[in-house]
Amino acid sequence: MPQRLNLPPATVNAFRRALPRWYRRHRRSLPWRGIQDPYRTWVSEIMLQQTRVETVREYYRRWLREFPTLESLARAPAARVLKMWEGLGYYSRARNLHRAAKQISTIPATVPELMKLPGIGRYTAGAIASIAFDQRAPIVDGNVARVFARVFGLTGNVKLPATQAQLWMLAEELLPAKNCGDFNQALMELGALVCTPASPACAQCPLRQVCVARARGWQDRLPNRGVPQKSTAVTHDVLFIQNAGKFLLRQRPKTGVLAGMWEFPAGKSEKLLLTIRHAIMNQRITLRVFAGQTAAGRWFTRRQAAQLAMPAAHRRALIAVAGPAHRSPAAGGRTRR
Ligand code: SF4
Repeated sequence: MPQRLNLPPATVNAFRRALPRWYRRHRRSLPWRGIQDPYRTWVSEIMLQQTRVETVREYYRRWLREFPTLESLARAPAARVLKMWEGLGYYSRARNLHRAAKQISTIPATVPELMKLPGIGRYTAGAIASIAFDQRAPIVDGNVARVFARVFGLTGNVKLPATQAQLWMLAEELLPAKNCGDFNQALMELGALVCTPASPACAQCPLRQVCVARARGWQDRLPNRGVPQKSTAVTHDVLFIQNAGKFLLRQRPKTGVLAGMWEFPAGKSEKLLLTIRHAIMNQRITLRVFAGQTAAGRWFTRRQAAQLAMPAAHRRALIAVAGPAHRSPAAGGRTRR
């Protein structure tokens, strides 16, 4: 039984009445909203992890054209699943979706059952259970944590277990008796549109009357996310090797980072063709592409290479040196919702 928090009635009221009212008027029209299909909710929730809504829209549409049902995903070859995820990043998400689809014939409705599936943690389980099955399940993601930290004036580091426990208790306590899916989406939408990380639009916020951060001018101090991790610089040198209209690529090992994806072979020469910079998590990566003569790998035509799953930086390099026939649908973002 969760501990009772004795929250002020005005605060509970603001969350349960003013917030849903605001949501009905201001929510975005998104392709995964207003549908009664747990598979689609699941796909959207996995794609939205650490990725911007605008990036996910196109991937979501393409994914559902290719894999419209759980069964079609379960039957798909792993290489095709990776290809449809290309550019979204965090490829373990796609692999876990595929693994889970092979394990089940229907998507479970409860948080404990959902959490047994690969790639589904407490947040995703709560989102699927509440949105797709109208279960009374709480959620806490980055947006919700920010809203709670500000409204309740929580000064603890939101990454620490003690603060996380507080956030989950609040999420549980504030849930209404029904329409929990809409309530959870309203919380996330408020964090995405109004209670934004920088310059929150407090004047438009349905929670402004009860918000501690607004009353004390702490919007810039909260949430406390601890000391930011320093990013590290990494350089990868690779070879672009072509012969008679074909390109040499090698496949990454079946396990580990970017497992099974195709990329340029490692190596270096006197002739630098181009440099591509990109960031993954806390790494600033420089990919230097050199003209090469020989390496282990397999030859592909442009058309064949376009069907392979490649890491985004290698795909960009291939487009730059071999032309736009290899274009990926969109570049992956890294910010949730
Ligand atoms: S009043 Fe401002 S700081 Fe408080 S929840 Fe609303 S937008 Fe966020």
